[in-house]
Amino acid sequence: MSCRLNRFIEPILVTRPTLPPLDVYQDYLRLIWQSQQLTNFGRFAREFEASIQDLIGSPNCLFVTNGTLALQLVLKALEVTGEVITTPFSFVATSSAIQWEGATPVLVDIDPHTLNLDPGRVEEAITPKTTAIVATHVYGNPCEIAQLESISRKHGLKLIFDAAHCVGVTHQGRALIQNGDASITSFHATKVFHSVEGGLAYFREQETGHRLRYMRNYGFNGPEDFQGLGINAKNSELHAAMGLALLPSLGAIIEKRLAVHRAYDRVLAGHPRLQQPRWSEDATRNGAYYPIILESEEVLLGLQSALEDKNVFTRRYFYPPLSRLPYVRATKIPVAENISRRVLCLPIYADLDLEAVGQIGAFIADFAERPEVLEARS
Ligand SMILES: *Cc1c(COP(=O)(O)O)cnc(C)c1O
Repeated sequence: MSCRLNRFIEPILVTRPTLPPLDVYQDYLRLIWQSQQLTNFGRFAREFEASIQDLIGSPNCLFVTNGTLALQLVLKALEVTGEVITTPFSFVATSSAIQWEGATPVLVDIDPHTLNLDPGRVEEAITPKTTAIVATHVYGNPCEIAQLESISRKHGLKLIFDAAHCVGVTHQGRALIQNGDASITSFHATKVFHSVEGGLAYFREQETGHRLRYMRNYGFNGPEDFQGLGINAKNSELHAAMGLALLPSLGAIIEKRLAVHRAYDRVLAGHPRLQQPRWSEDATRNGAYYPIILESEEVLLGLQSALEDKNVFTRRYFYPPLSRLPYVRATKIPVAENISRRVLCLPIYADLDLEAVGQIGAFIADFAERPEVLEARS
């Protein structure tokens, strides 16, 4: 089969934000100009918060500045200290938030099929100093929630999920975000759904919610009443307006992303020289990422540069593993080390042209088949 692929004139980036129609956003801006309320829990921040509560199916969630701060806030609100068991295969914010809050991230290896924290290894890493588990639903694919819950219950640990990739995913009929003692997601522009910058903190107990509320607002519990330590983690009217303007399109965005997913799948799924994560059958998908696992780092680097020659840009999510962070204690995580060297995320966004996806997919399928030949020719 021919593996010829013409160079794309416009670069195909790994992701592109979806924007609402400009006039819809302008209508919001006009109202903001009229009210002159730009931030501090204005009309749109409250409306957007209510809308995401509807989306998640729980009133127990707060709209905050970003996903990273959402994670820091829930760690603080749940009084997480000492050691926190977490995954090396995630975005840096998962570990940095733990360290920033004064706790110690303890990295535990991942499952080679799901790429999520391996519950079988969590228990052996628990020490008297362990207070919590922070697990990421990598690429929107749910962790072994029930197993992690029973481990955390047995050892009296807090269970927190980094659900930054999970907007729109339901698990056993409920929003995936609605799990654990707390859970966070991100509304960053590069995610499936966004408010330019933004995040959400979900909590199970009302006591946690109470703490999160004053903590995101400098510790205020009323105009002249301080409840405790706080930070500024509220979000603005302009950000909330972006979220509100985009929210009606969320279903369509996910549908279009899933169409891209299927177009890649047609050429890449089941390819004998490519692996892919094993997706949960208990959850829906949101098309947040399209990861492939190549045979070696060499093949990955060859493919990445061959694609760049065609003006197609990929990202190594997640490389390096978080064990390489200068402030994290080195631990043996052979599975994460190995996967991290070989995993590549392909371009995926709502308006990505499906014909281009088919061509890129076919090129990759050929490359994976015989990387030597193609590298020599490119
Ligand atoms: C994006 C991301 C975050 C951070 O979210 P921000 O809103 O960018 O702060 C945290 N964890 C994971 C896994 C992410 O992908």
